[in-house]
Amino acid sequence: MKKLKNYIESSIGIRLTLYYCAILLTTLVLCGFVVIFGMNFALTKEANSKIKVAISNIQNSLQSEENPNLNDPELVDQAGSLELWIQIYKDNKLVSKSPNLGNIKLPFYNGPVKSILINGQEVLISGKDIGNGIFVEVAHPLKREKHFLAVLSGLLIFLMMGATLFAMTSGYISVTNTLRPLAILTKKVKEINTGKLDERIPLSGPKDELYLLAQAFNEMLERLEKGFKSQQEFVAAASHDLRTPLSVIKSYNDLLKRWGKDDKKILEESIQTIAVATQRMERLVNDLLFLARVESKPRINFVKVNTKELIEEIAKEAQALSQTITVTFSTCDLYVNADEDYLRRALWALVDNAIKYNKENGEVKILSREEGNFAVIDIIDTGIGIKEEALPRLFEKFYRVDSSRQSSGFGLGLSLSKEIIQLHGGDIKVKSKYKEGSTFSVYLPLYPPAIKGKNAIL
Ligand code: ADP
Repeated sequence: MKKLKNYIESSIGIRLTLYYCAILLTTLVLCGFVVIFGMNFALTKEANSKIKVAISNIQNSLQSEENPNLNDPELVDQAGSLELWIQIYKDNKLVSKSPNLGNIKLPFYNGPVKSILINGQEVLISGKDIGNGIFVEVAHPLKREKHFLAVLSGLLIFLMMGATLFAMTSGYISVTNTLRPLAILTKKVKEINTGKLDERIPLSGPKDELYLLAQAFNEMLERLEKGFKSQQEFVAAASHDLRTPLSVIKSYNDLLKRWGKDDKKILEESIQTIAVATQRMERLVNDLLFLARVESKPRINFVKVNTKELIEEIAKEAQALSQTITVTFSTCDLYVNADEDYLRRALWALVDNAIKYNKENGEVKILSREEGNFAVIDIIDTGIGIKEEALPRLFEKFYRVDSSRQSSGFGLGLSLSKEIIQLHGGDIKVKSKYKEGSTFSVYLPLYPPAIKGKNAIL
């Protein structure tokens, strides 16, 4: 029993078939009951009227004569053909009865039609006093009707069983056929692992729910494949960037072991280089940790921030750090809903790049403006610019446009900025002309937060 239950629960096809067969059987049984009940009612009604007509016929023929002959066989003639039993009494004495009664004697009953049992069989009976001491009693045995109803019931039960069995078999076959793609899907899903993410489920047949499921699954695989690939690239790039300072430290360590203790120059150079390499590693690890924190979608401490104050602060700091580049700003009071520390870090990465990738004596401008429901901060530089083909990959982690001209960056600044701004419901757009300069535009929803749907310009 438990095995059967498990089998039923393990297959949608069997469950669906059983469910629909149960509905079909219930409907058929209800219809059967209605048919049997209706037929029984109609047959009883017909018998009823036959009895009444017979009584009134006898009454008419007796009343039409002055001295009626109660033994006249014509009186009870109708009995045989209509399956009626007739008894006629005169002054309470039985004087005539239909021959089909044989040995049966009807019990004395004066009243409308009612059902009684005679010798174990159901009979409808009615009796009437028709005057002059004459009493007529007519009965109808329901044997034929009962037999008809029994045959009809048997036939209906047979048909119900047949129909249910047919529905069960054909239903199971068609449901199993319909659900076959699910089995293929399950098999494929079991086969797919991280080494086989390029596998796809073949799409065929009508565009029904299963087709859409397989399509959605393929799309998910595509996203997973992309994510997995970029994860692999990320790990490779991170290890590569960590390996360089590590090998510097290792080689200076070897140098120190061999000669460093006695050679003061080597000792000093080693200490200096190891300190720079350690600093670089520390910076990379910090960036990675921060990126991991931002990517895990932290709870942001949103407050009302005036972009004007923040921009002025960043611009002054940037000017102080860079002697050769001129940093200017033009801002207005624009409020955004943001975590100030995160926002400062995102903007600072863009301003830092604008200085880093600028030309000698170049310029950096920071402007703020309002566009729809957004506060826009433009960071414009007159620097080396970015080639058009590099723009689509610019915000990828560890991406550096041209490694030959690289400074100390790891290619994480822009991806970090973008993650932070997107966490605030905004985005960063870039326009650049190679060798002429770049403009990074930061879009942030204005404070108070706009009604959903209004931020659609991005
Ligand atoms: P990095 O730490 O290398 O600066 P980023 O993610 O900040 O990393 O920048 C990625 C790359 O985009 C940089 O290596 C640089 O080539 C290019 N880049 C970013 N900002 C600018 C800019 N203002 N002008 C020119 N190139 C830029």
